[in-house]
Amino acid sequence: MNRRAFLGGAGVALSLGVAGRRAASPPDPVVVRVWFSESAATQHALADRVEGYLGAALDGALEAVEIDVAPSTVALPHEGGKESLGVDWPVTVAEGAVGMADIDPVGDVNLLVTDGDPRRQPAGYARPRIAAATGGAYIARMAPAAETPPVVPYSIPAAATQLLLHEVGHALGATHSHGTARREGDALVASPMVGSYLWAPERVRERQLGDESACGGAYPDADDASERRLGLRYTDCAAGALE
Ligand SMILES: [Zn+2]
Repeated sequence: MNRRAFLGGAGVALSLGVAGRRAASPPDPVVVRVWFSESAATQHALADRVEGYLGAALDGALEAVEIDVAPSTVALPHEGGKESLGVDWPVTVAEGAVGMADIDPVGDVNLLVTDGDPRRQPAGYARPRIAAATGGAYIARMAPAAETPPVVPYSIPAAATQLLLHEVGHALGATHSHGTARREGDALVASPMVGSYLWAPERVRERQLGDESACGGAYPDADDASERRLGLRYTDCAAGALE
């Protein structure tokens, strides 16, 4: 059930803040369960960073969220690539759901984080309820989420961290068109659902982003701004699409 529709329909007086939608009684949290590949699990601080950045972004977008780290790690033949992220992981989740694999999936988001090179495409993958992202070693290099502002200069660690939010956003129903890009002085800030596509070659950018955001507004021309920045929070447009 769509929680927002339910609460709205019940006539509960809601105080709608920018950062959160507070309800009279605590709603069931959206649960994101995170698995690490065996290699990613050796990255010091990775679990803390994944929980921290996902938690900060989802807390602002959903009524309630719970991020839990699965007790077991996932053995992978390869840390990246379409086969590992986009085929093997969804199959493992599907098998886990019927007791045929050694994992216990949740109904909301089942996220795999691996230890490959996030500069190699595809670096992430998502379909409803399932997400995968690589770049664990880079994400682990980020400062703790609590010490990081919501918009940061472009870097590989920040792009890998934003990719986590991007794929989890997809798993919860958001598309690229729910992302936004905005000018901030000389910089262009890409939100998580737009991500690095903002600076992709024209052909790729057009295919992935189209001309404008679903919530209005054309994406600015990436050539107009000298600096690249990455947003680490979902925009209101993307938050409204998460379910
Ligand atoms: Zn995407």
